[in-house]
This record gives sequence, structure tokens and C-alpha cells, in this order.
Amino acid sequence: MSDTIFGKITRGEIPSDFLYEDDQCVVIRDISPQAPTHVLVIPRTPIPRLVDADVEHQALLGHLMLVVGRVAQQLGVGDGFRLVVNNGEDGGQTVFHLHLHILAGQPMDEADT
Ligand code: C5P
Repeated sequence: MSDTIFGKITRGEIPSDFLYEDDQCVVIRDISPQAPTHVLVIPRTPIPRLVDADVEHQALLGHLMLVVGRVAQQLGVGDGFRLVVNNGEDGGQTVFHLHLHILAGQPMDEADT
């Protein structure tokens, strides 16, 4: 499996400010934010796309959801955010290491993300 920028970030090979981290995932600010708050929840396990996740990743996927909620509250956007997973090239995915986008800070029905 080929490595990606997120593999290097999660392994600490590229210095990054983690808003949150634990043994299973890290959270960073998106380098090109599409909303006032735009952060990425990235598992340390390099699953390329959501469709590549298997039953062995079930607990990890659940954990990522709990981290989303925790981080959203931490950032003060717990009452309103959009959670996005782009899957595959046709889904707009550009980094093939699964990640969850948390977008907030503007009315999401007016956003094009
Ligand atoms: O879902 P998708 O693969 O398109 O999202 C990748 C995201 O990773 C983009 O929003 C891009 O701005 C972000 N990115 C980043 N830091 C990098 C490379 C990409 O935050 N070094």
C-alpha cells in the first residue's frame, strides 16, 4: 500500500499541530479550510478509502465518530457542524488515507462543501 502525506503526519514524520491525538487517531486543521472551522480526523491505521474498511476496523470507525463529537465540542461547534467523508476520486477524495472532515462556522445549507 502506498504511503500518503497523512501517513507521514500521523507518524510524526511531518511536524503538525495536533488539536487532539490518541493511540488510534489524530486531529489537525485542514491546510486549505473550506469553512471557518475545518479540521480532519485521521486514523493512524492507513485505510485508503471508506469502502476499504472491513469488520476489523469496526471499533476504530466507531472511535472516530466519538472523537468527532468530542473535538467538535472542544472547538465550540458541537451544536452545528457537517461531517464529510470523500470516498474515491469520483467522490472528490485527493488523499488516499481515510479521514473525516469536520466543517463548521457558517450556515451549512449555504456552503458548497
Ligand atoms: O477528502 P480529500 O481527500 O479531498 O481531503 C484532503 C484534505 O486534506 C483537503 O481538504 C486538503 O486541504 C487537506 N490537506 C491538508 N494538509 C495537507 C494535505 C492536504 O490539510 N498536507
